[in-house]
Amino acid sequence: MADSGFNNCELCGSPGGEVVWESALCRVVMVADADYPGYCRIILHKHLREMTDLPEKERMQLMSVVFAVESAVRGLYQPDKVNLASLGNMTPHVHWHLIPRWRDDRHFPHPVWAAAQRASAPRRSPVDGRQLGERIIAALRST
Ligand SMILES: [Zn+2]
Repeated sequence: MADSGFNNCELCGSPGGEVVWESALCRVVMVADADYPGYCRIILHKHLREMTDLPEKERMQLMSVVFAVESAVRGLYQPDKVNLASLGNMTPHVHWHLIPRWRDDRHFPHPVWAAAQRASAPRRSPVDGRQLGERIIAALRST
């Protein structure tokens, strides 16, 4: 179902971050957040509200990209946990947040959108977008 807010949609109007990989269906962008290196969004190109607005084949393709990004981020960062979230209350355009988490990060054990639990996280090295893109391609090939 098309959304009436299409013209004002942030994810239709801009890439939404640094694009590290894309296909005809979707793109993977890195979110610039010093506390969460490796934080990615997997964004459907098409403006649809919910996963079930997608034909099943494309739904499965999108999830295979989400899992490839998860493998890539785990391989690069060895986080204690990976958070996967599809919210879209503010931006009702299908996209997944993939957030590597560490026991000592700013919000652990709460979601990154909750109140911070500590002042700052230990510094972690930033993700190299090209390296992440290559890991995603490798993960997609092995599925
Ligand atoms: Zn949109």
